[in-house]
Amino acid sequence: MAETWMEQVRNEVRTLEQLEQYIDVSDDERHAITTLKTRWGTTPYFASLMDKDDPTCPIRMQVIPSMKEQVNEFGMKDYLMWKENRATDEVRPDSIARQYKDRIAFTVTEVCGIYCRHCFRKELVVDQDLKLRFDVEEGLEWIREHPEIRDVLVTGGDPLLLSDEKLSYLIGALREIPHVEMIRIGSRLPIVLPQRITEGLKKAIGGFHKVPVWINTQCNHPKEITAETERAVFELLSCGINVGNQAVLLKGINDDVPTFRELHQKLLRTRIRPYYVFYCEPAPGIDHFRTPVEKGAELIRDALRGHTTGLAQPMYVLATNIGKIPLMPDYYIVDKNDKEYTLRNYKGETTKIPNMPA
Ligand SMILES: *Cc1c(COP(=O)(O)O)cnc(C)c1O
Ligand code: SF4
Repeated sequence: MAETWMEQVRNEVRTLEQLEQYIDVSDDERHAITTLKTRWGTTPYFASLMDKDDPTCPIRMQVIPSMKEQVNEFGMKDYLMWKENRATDEVRPDSIARQYKDRIAFTVTEVCGIYCRHCFRKELVVDQDLKLRFDVEEGLEWIREHPEIRDVLVTGGDPLLLSDEKLSYLIGALREIPHVEMIRIGSRLPIVLPQRITEGLKKAIGGFHKVPVWINTQCNHPKEITAETERAVFELLSCGINVGNQAVLLKGINDDVPTFRELHQKLLRTRIRPYYVFYCEPAPGIDHFRTPVEKGAELIRDALRGHTTGLAQPMYVLATNIGKIPLMPDYYIVDKNDKEYTLRNYKGETTKIPNMPA
């Protein structure tokens, strides 16, 4: 696996024949690959993490198309238009999605390192039914004209697939905008293409600077973390870039207590701070990945809070068109009166503290 990141991108695994070099493709997988008209693919590195014999391998399930994607009983039509408030009165470039006053998501590409089957931007990124225009200059100009924007989330697609030169230009241009205080990059590459974290990338976006860069990656299963990931994350931290994780709660992949706990412990061991766990969004064609809404809060209650290190606790959120809505477990307050609160811990033990009149 001595390939450079660009060779990895050139050698993307996206045909049945290529996939067969990594795994014994099941009949269902073969049927979906040859029938569905959908963009799919992975870096050779991420493909090499697949279990050769097990179609329920979490890496396989995230990468290989399934006939279940044709079912859309519970998904929303035109999901992305709703979710990203693209149909509202405020005139914005296609590249700018807005839900909050002080921060925006800035889409700079629609190309990814892998095409996640559960992607909530599937209409755009995977199925390519939705056509939008991502003009970086137009987006930068919009941000320059909006002094209330202090936090820019550069997203995609996968922004780290841009060349060092383009990233250096983009991050440099954002850092020159006086009201931009911080930059966040959403990228799966530390997980699916850790080879991308090079000296050149560190020079392009890292270093001591008054406008810091934070990277939020997406890792959904402990199997996605390797020695390569550890190296990549360390390199990012070594040039001042913080690394967080935004996992997606996925049925059959990470929705059981042991996997959920191991994922969060392993992230910390890799120096990645768990930030969010997202409810799998009601985008079309991903019903088979979605759990009941409460599941994420139950997992935090049963797998994390109290059971392991406090730093390993993400916030569980539902991403909606009006922003992210946190949904945390609500077992803590058993009773409350004028005098005191009765509180419950993760073991079911209770204690009391005095109430404080306002
Ligand atoms: C997720 C998101 C943000 C950032 O939300 P945080 O809670 O600050 O991480 C900002 N804008 C849009 C459109 C988003 O989807
Ligand atoms: S990397 Fe992100 S944008 Fe790309 S397919 Fe996966 S979830 Fe979607």
